[in-house]
Amino acid sequence: MRREQDELHRGIGMTSQRTRERLIQRLYEEGLSNAQVLEAIRRTPRHLFVDEALAHRAYEDTALPIGHNQTISQPYMVARMSELLLAAGPLDKVLEIGTGSGYQTAILAQLVERIFSVERIQGLQDRAKERMTELNLRNVVFRWGDGWEGWPALAPYNGIIVTAAASEVPQALLDQLAPGGRLVIPVGAGDVQQLLLIIREEQGFARHVLDAVRFVPLLNGPLA
Ligand code: SAH
Repeated sequence: MRREQDELHRGIGMTSQRTRERLIQRLYEEGLSNAQVLEAIRRTPRHLFVDEALAHRAYEDTALPIGHNQTISQPYMVARMSELLLAAGPLDKVLEIGTGSGYQTAILAQLVERIFSVERIQGLQDRAKERMTELNLRNVVFRWGDGWEGWPALAPYNGIIVTAAASEVPQALLDQLAPGGRLVIPVGAGDVQQLLLIIREEQGFARHVLDAVRFVPLLNGPLA
């Protein structure tokens, strides 16, 4: 059993360690340089976060479907957003909006003290939970809810990451940011959005407009 599990995590063929190393090399060449982030990506078996039929593509630097019209984020974006979140030093309390497959969650769980992750689709959340257990990541707490509201009961957060595109920055997330806290969020209504880094300062917020990005939308309305 133990051996089978090792093999499952390590992967074979198109999910082998060598295939993974190529992805890390590519991210590095694209300018991602946070060694801890790259190491977390190297260690994390992304093929366990997609359907078996897509496992052979898990180490391509691309988003892939995860059902319910949603996608697992592209490794480049996961690395980029993690770097932005961690750029000012370690974080102890992070809120994530849009758990999806749980891949970004799993990467962050290895880099920060505690993660609180909100998802509106219960089926996705259930699978993500199973994956955290399987990978023995115990510092993640999940909530089924609407990310526009954040998770007020546990605020404030030192970092907030949103992995779906919001038409505007949700006020609740700004309110739930601790002093010095960092919010990384794609904003825009069209196919292409802007990645923003917003930092809570003593008075007000500093807002940095970064890359052009493509995310599925942060949805409103009833939970599915
Ligand atoms: N980081 C995830 C990306 C998932 S895609 C991964 O790597 O797998 C974006 C996710 O945001 C989807 O799972 C979608 O259901 C979720 N989402 C969209 N609108 C939301 C909302 N208002 N509240 C919470 N989650 C939301």
